[in-house]
Amino acid sequence: MAGISIASRRNHIATILDMLTSEYGPFKEPRKLLPADELVFTILSQHTSDINSGRAYNNLMSHFGTLEHVAAASTQDIEKQIQRGGLAKVKAPRIKSVLNQIIELNGSLDLQFLKNLPVSEGVQWLTQLKGIGPKSAGIVLNFSLGLPAMAIDTHIYRVSQRLRIIPKSQNVDKAHVFLQKIVLPEQITNFHTAIITHGRQTCSAQNPKCSNCVVAQLCPSKTAFLKNHSKNNSNSDKLTRNRKRIVPHSPEIPEENV
Ligand code: SF4
Repeated sequence: MAGISIASRRNHIATILDMLTSEYGPFKEPRKLLPADELVFTILSQHTSDINSGRAYNNLMSHFGTLEHVAAASTQDIEKQIQRGGLAKVKAPRIKSVLNQIIELNGSLDLQFLKNLPVSEGVQWLTQLKGIGPKSAGIVLNFSLGLPAMAIDTHIYRVSQRLRIIPKSQNVDKAHVFLQKIVLPEQITNFHTAIITHGRQTCSAQNPKCSNCVVAQLCPSKTAFLKNHSKNNSNSDKLTRNRKRIVPHSPEIPEENV
């Protein structure tokens, strides 16, 4: 799809978003936390479900009351409060360190000033914090401050590649820059939610459900997945037939040959 115009790519994206929104929508508004709270939430949500990260965040805040108190607490105390989110030993020091880096750089945990910066400068400011990458920065700017910032997670990267929203060979960093440019600012929040939902519910990493996919007609990857699927099915049919044939009549054949 090299050489495809920006206008064609935008049409492709708009059609996909319409279809995904009719299939899974209407989508709820994303959570609205203050930016520093959203940063903490994104750390808590790494490698766990939204439910678990939500519980861990609620525990943390009901115990400490404010993020200033979290920043001043010991790592062990933070760890105790976020156990339910998983990976507490990794996340507790990261939360404490990020909060203290913000206080050091900014004098407080109030990050509202990011709203007045261009998106690229906001991303730059947030990613100077050790432990914060472009995905978390994009989520904070988009969810908390309503800015048109792209955030790419594993679902968005995979589904965008399969649907050739991004060129197939593009790495995550390049895909981030590319999507930030190609997706219209007013589509970014919907793009984020719709593509992640599709990735979770239908276009999964291992076994995408291409035969039940609402955007299958627009997907250049569908044929290869369906071919593989029917090959796997026919192999498993053969195996089942062989088992039926061999087991009753050849009891001497060892199990590993069946
Ligand atoms: S057709 Fe298959 S690979 Fe393509 S988007 Fe749908 S589920 Fe994903």
